[in-house]
Amino acid sequence: MTFGKESDRDLRSGTPVGEWNDWKWQFRNRVRSLRQLASVLNRPVASLAPCGLVLRTYPIAITPYYLSLLDPADENDPLRRQCFPDPRELNFYLGGVEDPLDEERDMPVPGLIHRYPDRCLAIVTGTCAVHCRHCNRKRMWRAKKPGRTRERLQVMVDYVARTPALREVIVSGGDPLLISEGLLDWFLGALRAISHVEVLRIGSRAPVTLPMRITPELCTMLKRHRPLWFNTQFNHALEITEESARACEMLLAAGIPVGNQSVLLRGVNDDYESMRDLLYGLERISVRPYYLFQCDPVRGTDHFRAEIWTGMEIMERLWRNISGLCLPRYVLDCPGGRGKIPLQPFSLLPETRQGGKHSFDNIKQMD
Ligand code: SF4
Repeated sequence: MTFGKESDRDLRSGTPVGEWNDWKWQFRNRVRSLRQLASVLNRPVASLAPCGLVLRTYPIAITPYYLSLLDPADENDPLRRQCFPDPRELNFYLGGVEDPLDEERDMPVPGLIHRYPDRCLAIVTGTCAVHCRHCNRKRMWRAKKPGRTRERLQVMVDYVARTPALREVIVSGGDPLLISEGLLDWFLGALRAISHVEVLRIGSRAPVTLPMRITPELCTMLKRHRPLWFNTQFNHALEITEESARACEMLLAAGIPVGNQSVLLRGVNDDYESMRDLLYGLERISVRPYYLFQCDPVRGTDHFRAEIWTGMEIMERLWRNISGLCLPRYVLDCPGGRGKIPLQPFSLLPETRQGGKHSFDNIKQMD
């Protein structure tokens, strides 16, 4: 198996275009084992023993496409950091919890999170094309497969139908584009048929990690369920490629607005230049930067967490230098329906400057 920036050109040229562009081929040919990872790195399996331990807790999944964008030999590659296992994921003594947003507690029915009065989030699958090592739902990767999907989804539809305050349903996961298209069509249609549901939203990283999944057929189906919004997660400018741009363009052409929710990740995008280039790139492909999330205190992600001060300084420079169209809202997500606390640039918080860390301490106390 040959992948990676240099060698991947071999893979891509050696793979018929039809297969490379087939999302099911990409999905089937993901790196899923230590042996495959060793092959990618061109190293003996035994030399990766520490990674093997990580995979027992947090399995690996990387599409050939995403792998082709990174340099497997460079430990500092910002895309490699997002998908290669790292022994630091097992540094549990550093703190963090499996479910920092208490999502399991806010589920009135299995898989449906109802934290805010007017909207809820349906986790329709635990499957993703790529396992992002910073994921705040990585606890789900090794969860037992829940029962039949159609029956689980029906229970969610029933809950939404008997809860008139819900005007928006976010369909997420895992990656909702990885359940069968017919089932997703049925689910969106069943939600759309509920009179008080005004808006649907899909959260999917497919445009970034598996852009072939955005097919004309999928777009035609999604178009039927508008108003439908689509949020994805680009974290670095290197993820903006011809393929990912085309995927977003197809959604936009179907009348589906595409937004982006990045996560501030140490060693990936926690510097001004990387974040600016990402935001400029998103603007170029007509994807609206929506949120920049402070990385949640998820167990096994401590090495990704940048200081809030770092994020505030980056936002300060962005706010001063780049177009408002490119500016996301930098937020700290909080459990228990306390919402997303905006983390404003210093210049918008004069009392923070005058009073030292006073305002920031208040924010920390709320967490
Ligand atoms: S695509 Fe989203 S849910 Fe899936 S592993 Fe990545 S961050 Fe987690």
